Amino acid sequence: MPRPSRFPSPRSPGLLAVACALGLAALGVLVPALVGAWPARPVDPLPAPQRWEFLPVRTHLGEHRALSFDGHVHTARSHDADHPAAGVLELARRVDLDAIVLTDHGSSLAAQDLDRAGYAGPVTALVGEEVGGSFGHAVIWNVPDRRGVFEAASESIEALGAVVRSQGGLVVLAHPGWWIDGNFYDPMRWMEYDALRRGGIGQAIDAIEIWNQVYYQPSRRLLDAWVALLDRGLFVPIVGNTDFHRHPEHELGLPRNVFFCPAAESDVAACLLSSVQAGRLYITDGPAVTLTVAQHTLGESVPTVPGAPLVVSLAALAPEGGTLELYVGHDIVQRFPLPLGERWERTLTVEAPASDSFVRAEIARATPVPHRTPFSLLTNPVLLDAPPWATSRRGPDEGPVRGPLGFSRRDIERAREREARRQAAQQLRRAR
Ligand SMILES: [Zn+2]
Ligand SMILES: [Zn+2]
Repeated sequence: MPRPSRFPSPRSPGLLAVACALGLAALGVLVPALVGAWPARPVDPLPAPQRWEFLPVRTHLGEHRALSFDGHVHTARSHDADHPAAGVLELARRVDLDAIVLTDHGSSLAAQDLDRAGYAGPVTALVGEEVGGSFGHAVIWNVPDRRGVFEAASESIEALGAVVRSQGGLVVLAHPGWWIDGNFYDPMRWMEYDALRRGGIGQAIDAIEIWNQVYYQPSRRLLDAWVALLDRGLFVPIVGNTDFHRHPEHELGLPRNVFFCPAAESDVAACLLSSVQAGRLYITDGPAVTLTVAQHTLGESVPTVPGAPLVVSLAALAPEGGTLELYVGHDIVQRFPLPLGERWERTLTVEAPASDSFVRAEIARATPVPHRTPFSLLTNPVLLDAPPWATSRRGPDEGPVRGPLGFSRRDIERAREREARRQAAQQLRRAR
């Protein structure tokens, strides 16, 4: 069955960028959703049902099926979004998503809306929210009890991580390439080695939203920064989401995360969370892919012997074509033009490097699409673990962070005081 085109219309991300920035009025503080201030509008007209085909993968652990989710989705419980939760879930079904995470600004009330509406559809909805802090924005996933979230986010991402983790949830750094009004630190700084490494101030971050439909412009710069982290032996999984606020201005599920679940695993939410934590997923707005190295898939670590051959298996299905680029470390080792809409497969051998490295894939678009990234697919890496084996994914523990990055609590408090003084002065000016 032919799949519908993924690119029906260009959008205007500028307005939403402003709206999102305005949503964070002061450092570390997202005002809880102005519930009821924005009347919910049904998703109308609903698009025709789509069917997305993903490829299952066979690994050393057996057969895995592929499912997809969008992890950054707003409902009318956000002051800057339009649709009721049940409407968004129906839209998710139409665009063939298996799951979404509801991430309203400072609110998890959308989950109660779904309960009240008696939602019993096929799409799994996880409870989360979007919160702000000195780190910019983060989406937190699987946090049914939001008590303490606001205070923790205002304090630090470490404190936020503790609250979220106590419920089995995850912290995802949202659109990190964007300055948020009222913040004092370049959000890109949270993607630095010293921030994210073990013992670093951002070690509570479980994944990075490297691809965001609305804030798509810095994606390549973010990707380069993330690869530089991998080069230094630090792996934080990447995800891609839409930051959906309203239909059809935003297209739910473009991009989406495709994650792999063992055949016996029937709990979609549990598999989703463990896949993100491991990096067992890729991000796409059209094509499907599988990549294994010595029968290990994305996010897994392969113990290697320097110079030994490694079998790399690739498969792809790209409705719009494009070029699959296979990377070992930061080098492209092979480029494969993909046939339009036909299943493609290739097996090749690469030599295991002398030190830790990684294998990953991108698909470059056949032709540029306005308001889109130059790539249509990004994978998490398969990690190549050279001796000494079993090195930490977050790098060695080098003790507390020193040097100019040092977002010490004192720095943040000082910055906060500066901001409070600035706001007071502004109010005074306005009053005159
Ligand atoms: Zn945001
Ligand atoms: Zn958002």
